Amino acid sequence: MVASYVELLARRYRGRLDADADEFIGYAVDGATRMQRLINDLLNYSRAGTTGLASVRVDVEQVLEDVLCDLRETIASTGAVVSHDPLPTVTADAVQMRQVFQNLIVNAIKFRGVEPPRVHVSAQREDGGWRFGVGDNGIGIDPEHHELIFVIFQRLHARDAYPGTGIGLAVCKRIVARHGGRMWVESEPGEGSSFFFTIPDAGGQ
Ligand code: ADP
Repeated sequence: MVASYVELLARRYRGRLDADADEFIGYAVDGATRMQRLINDLLNYSRAGTTGLASVRVDVEQVLEDVLCDLRETIASTGAVVSHDPLPTVTADAVQMRQVFQNLIVNAIKFRGVEPPRVHVSAQREDGGWRFGVGDNGIGIDPEHHELIFVIFQRLHARDAYPGTGIGLAVCKRIVARHGGRMWVESEPGEGSSFFFTIPDAGGQ
């Protein structure tokens, strides 16, 4: 409600009050929008820990296709190219798998360098399960921050440089842990980043 009404004020009264009023309304719209995003992200984080896990056969190739479909505007506007290995079917929660891939791919595109983003999704058999990777050619991450970024609210950049709430990776890590897997990053500043996670899948193919 707050977001909708301050947006309405902004639309209806822009230029009809004075410059200060336009500026103040702008701050209110910005704040309300951020609050909305933060609440959504926090709800996601909370649900990732509490919602019962649906354990079904999940076609990861289909999951990726759905995620890329949702992100088509971002992909088109940034000129991102997303490639992938042949992706397996695993036993997992489909909604949560989608969330993990979505968060990682959004980040891979958001934290891009000067080149258009190139993102590769990999999958490799490992210890009876699968190791997935999302690699990018973006700004990279100093090894001293490799653990910190998975902690909720931890971000390495000012909000105006790269928008975000600092919750996405904490959600990913929580989801992966609930599936019995682990998650980590390999990266150097300026060298791109590769996020990896494992999904144990004894009955997988
Ligand atoms: P948000 O994207 O909202 O900031 P995340 O939890 O998804 O929150 O990420 C936490 C931080 O980790 C980011 O703010 C950024 O500093 C760093 N990060 C995440 N993904 C990447 C990436 N692909 N390349 C470089 N830095 C990244």
